[in-house]
Amino acid sequence: MNDVRELVIVGSGPAGLTAAIYAGRANLHPLVIEGLAAGGQLMLTTDVENYPGFPDGILGPELMTRFREQAARFGAELVTADADEVDLSERPFRVRVGGTEHRAHAVIVSTGASARMLGLDFEQRLLGHGVSTCATCDGFFFRDHDIAVVGGGDSAVEEALFLTKFARSVTVIHRRDELRASMILQERAFADPKISFRWNTVVEDAVGDSKLERVLLRDVETGERSELAVTGLFVAIGHTPNTGLFAGQLAMDGAGYLVTEPGSTRTTVEGVFACGDVQDHVYRQAVTAAGSGCMAAIDAERWLAARAHAATAPG
Ligand code: NAP
Repeated sequence: MNDVRELVIVGSGPAGLTAAIYAGRANLHPLVIEGLAAGGQLMLTTDVENYPGFPDGILGPELMTRFREQAARFGAELVTADADEVDLSERPFRVRVGGTEHRAHAVIVSTGASARMLGLDFEQRLLGHGVSTCATCDGFFFRDHDIAVVGGGDSAVEEALFLTKFARSVTVIHRRDELRASMILQERAFADPKISFRWNTVVEDAVGDSKLERVLLRDVETGERSELAVTGLFVAIGHTPNTGLFAGQLAMDGAGYLVTEPGSTRTTVEGVFACGDVQDHVYRQAVTAAGSGCMAAIDAERWLAARAHAATAPG
């Protein structure tokens, strides 16, 4: 057990590290539990071309290294391990990492979300080399390519529509014969000449060592196998927010995302703030995550200052 800190930040993607930069500069000496998958989803991408300030683009891992260096420069302390347990039921709050328990007056949760994957071997091999989980991030690299999107929800159809700006053709591969996506998106997709559908179909494997060449498909009704020549495969079967540590402690919506007060990063426990994808299933961009990380640090700093003021005020 060590001294009580002002602030512990759990998670180290753009949201957590931006919170660390701001909190460091506010002299809060934040401790960042960066996790074993430090850096978040950008560590799984290659070029990032839409992060402002990098007109020539930057590699995702390189961008996160810079975030990290900037946070360390302002006094953030980083622990490269996963938080095993968080106890928000008593003050100071407690965060256990391995055998060490950290105590803090305020906690910022920035544990992000993980894109759901199909669970096939090729996904890890080709992620960033044809396989992607983010059309907004990577669509631009597929100008005039034939590509496919897996999924039948709003994300899949929205990504397919977005990708028609670049791709020559977009094939939506869906495991059933009807979409789950909202009607308006469905209608747009059905009307788009670049989009076609492979119904009742699942991806079984992919061919390509360093870049995707084609995917191997199976019709779930007939069992018939086929191939589809595509250089891009966008897996859009949903995201899972990383909120397991907070179950029963912080309010979540039906999909497990942390609920924050509109216009702020305050959660349902005073002194606990949430930012980035763990509380945002709409925008999910590095820049919006960073922006909300800044908000969380400012909210935490103000909350801590008010608390300190109340503790020293006469009466
Ligand atoms: P979702 O609604 O959960 O849809 C996931 C899709 O992926 C479903 O069609 C599902 O098939 C399919 N799927 C799941 N696991 C699969 C697997 N292992 N193999 C093959 N296919 C699989 O997820 P989402 O589309 O990301 O949307 C999440 C939430 O965000 C929803 O509430 C959605 O409305 C919202 N959202 C809204 C917008 C918008 O309004 N513009 C945009 C994006 C997301 P089944 O249909 O067979 O289950």
